[in-house]
This record gives sequence, C-alpha cells and structure tokens, in this order.
Amino acid sequence: MVLFAKRVELLGTENAFKVGEDIRRVEASGQDVIRLNLGEPDFNSAENINLKAKQQIDKGNSHYTDPAGILALREAIAEQVGRTRGFSVNPDQVVVFPGAKPSISYTMLTYVNPGDEVIYPSPGFPIYESWVTYVGAKPVPLHLEESKGFAFTAEDLDKLLTTRTRVLIINSPSNPTGGVLSQKDLEEIAEVVRARTDETFRIYSDEIYEQILFDGNVHRSITLLPGMRERTILVSGHSKTYAMTGWRLGYAVLPTVEEANSFKQLNINIFSCVPPFIQEAGVEAFKNPANPAIIAEMTQQFQLRRDMVVDALNAIEGITCAKPGGAFYVFPNIAGVCEKLGILNAYESIPADKQKRSSPSTLFQLFALYRQGVATLDRRSFGVVGSEGRHFLRLSIAADMDTLKEGINRLQRASRDPEGFAHFFSHMPER
Ligand code: PLP
Repeated sequence: MVLFAKRVELLGTENAFKVGEDIRRVEASGQDVIRLNLGEPDFNSAENINLKAKQQIDKGNSHYTDPAGILALREAIAEQVGRTRGFSVNPDQVVVFPGAKPSISYTMLTYVNPGDEVIYPSPGFPIYESWVTYVGAKPVPLHLEESKGFAFTAEDLDKLLTTRTRVLIINSPSNPTGGVLSQKDLEEIAEVVRARTDETFRIYSDEIYEQILFDGNVHRSITLLPGMRERTILVSGHSKTYAMTGWRLGYAVLPTVEEANSFKQLNINIFSCVPPFIQEAGVEAFKNPANPAIIAEMTQQFQLRRDMVVDALNAIEGITCAKPGGAFYVFPNIAGVCEKLGILNAYESIPADKQKRSSPSTLFQLFALYRQGVATLDRRSFGVVGSEGRHFLRLSIAADMDTLKEGINRLQRASRDPEGFAHFFSHMPER
C-alpha cells in the first residue's frame, strides 16, 4: 500500500513562498537577506479598510454568509467591473473567494477533463501550470518572448490551438514580466478565438494587476472585445490593488449565472464562505472615495522604483532588462551572467535527474541568495514546461528604494564573482 494518492506528485508550487526555507537557512547562518522575492505590495491596507473590518467584528458580524459572497460585495464588484469594462454585470454572475487564486483550480475542475489541453502564458503565474497538470490535462505553454516585449502574436496562439483546447489563460499586466497586452494584441487574440473555437471554449483572464499600470496607461480587458465576454472568466481581487494580500479576497465574473453557481458549489464544498467582516472591508475598499488616490500614490512609487531598478540592472554587465508596463516586477535576462560565471558549464556537469529540477538561472538565484544575501526567483519558478535554455530572474520592486539599491548592489557583486560561484557550486546545499 502507498500513503499518497498518485495525483499528489502532480501538484506544483509557488516558489515565492517556498524560497522562505532557503532564506531562513541563510539568516540562521548570520547573513541578512534582502527580499526581492515577494509578490505583494510593501504598503499596508488603507486605514478606512482596516477600520471597517474592526467595526464589523465588534458588531458581531461573524457568521456564515452566502457562499457566493455577500450581495453588497457582489453588487460593488458588478458595478466596478461593469463600469470599467463597459457591460452590464449581474451580481449573480459574481463569485467571491479567499484571494483570486482559488478560481484557477475552479476553472480547471469545472471545464477541463483529463487529456484536454490548456494554453497558459510562460513565464506566468506558476499556479496555472500546477493545476493544469493536477487535473490530468496537457499543459501547453504559450511562450512570451523577450524579443516581442513579453507579448505573443496571433500566429503563436493559432499554432497551439487544437480541438482538445478547452481554456486559454491570459494575464495582463503580467506576473512575472510586467508585460501589458496592447489593444492590438487583444484584438488578435479575440480574432483567433472567434475563428478557431466554439461557444464552449473559455478564456481565463487574470486581471489582478488591473490598476497597477505605468506611464499613464489604462487597463484593457479582453472582455471589451466583441464575442469575448460571453466566453471569459474575468478574475481580479483586492490583494494587489488595495495591498490586501493577507486578507484573502478575490473574485470572478463568470459568463453565465449557471457557471457562477457551479463555482459557488465549489465554495460550499471547500470553505463555505469568506469571513463576513473581510467582505464588508472589501466593499469599503471599492466605495471609499479616498482609495483611488491611495492606489495612484502606490503605483507612482512602483513606477519610480521601476525606473531606478531597470537602469541599475541594465548597467550590470551580462544583464539586460526590459521596462515593464505594469505590476511590480522586473524580469531581467541574465544569460550573459550565466555565461560569464561559468554557470552554463556547471549546470551541464550535474547528473541528468538533478538537471531536471534545476537550471542555470536556479543556480545563480541560489548563489546570489546564499553568498550575497539577496532573494530573487528563477525562470523555472514561472512555468517549468519548455523553460530550458531561458535564463531570467524575477525581482519584485515591492521594497523601498534603499532596499532595492542594496539588493542590486548584491546582485552586481554576485555577477562579478566567478571564483565565488565555483566555490559555492562545489559546496552547494542539498535542497
Ligand atoms: N494571479 C496572479 C497573476 C498573481 O500574481 C497572483 C499573486 O501573486 C494571484 C493570481 C493570486 O492572488 P491572490 O493572492 O489574490 O490569491
């Protein structure tokens, strides 16, 4: 008999959380760590939101709610989504979850059978690939090439679609590249979807970074295009926009009430409901007139940091870094550093079974963390399938300027230290 069901080994992970174990080890050895691995704003949630939750707890608002979410929150979401995407949303099409994340698994469980295919961006949020694999579907990565500004063309998408494709996942602004799909990109996607799929095909549009956009850009949702909202599961949440990651509040707008009920059924089966005082705080986030200015200020800070970080990274020999249009990450190409430090050769010398669990950018990420005390994430953390030969890191810019400057200094020191790398590689910790 075996303890674990077979599917257990199919589930992936999110290294932004997992790297914590390495950080603790490094800190235990006496080295401080600059954390550029985190996917959350370094700002706190607004006072008006905090106050609302406290008042609600004191009022005794501590009971189960409608599993789909309280009506006031679903109405506020329907109003916000309807106003910004230009169509009318019925609150019964809205389902609320603890964070945006559960809707990824729900989409796979609701629309995808074993053997079906799902197209998702790579590099992309790692939980997409994790769940596609977990439900026994075929993961089909849509590679976002640096040379195309981390976007993709209609032709790229067209080549990947088959009669078994059930869902296309898109994410703009993107984690981890910060890339933003242009109006033209979206129109091309819509055209391919209209031409090549039927009404049972679904787009999962992850719009969680919808308000973190730079250079005066405004968010464009695929649902604005003809024929798209009827096929799109539009997902967003409070985590990034309102700096509420730990509160756990997200939502989806489903194409039909029937599909929303199917998601609601999963809520009933898994967690019953999101705590009522958190949902009330979520309404406050939408409604308090002070909040748009708070979001604008946070975004402005991210933009200033982006400008500093991109310039500083491009000044390091062996690194090139594109300028992201949104979110709070940069995604530098470190191929030159991997070459210069002898990492490509070192990787080739690893036994084949270990190579499968690593990559040159993984080795650099570990070297920078263990020897210089700067935590980042490697390319493999954003989709493993087809990631070979792609040498990138993700740095979060959700840290203050001084921390970011120190982090980049440490990366620079790591990038100039081939002897240090050779020594690290021969004494590398077992993970
Ligand atoms: N989607 C993307 C693209 C993300 O980057 C994240 C968080 O990092 C999520 C979804 C999950 O958001 P939440 O914390 O609201 O579950």
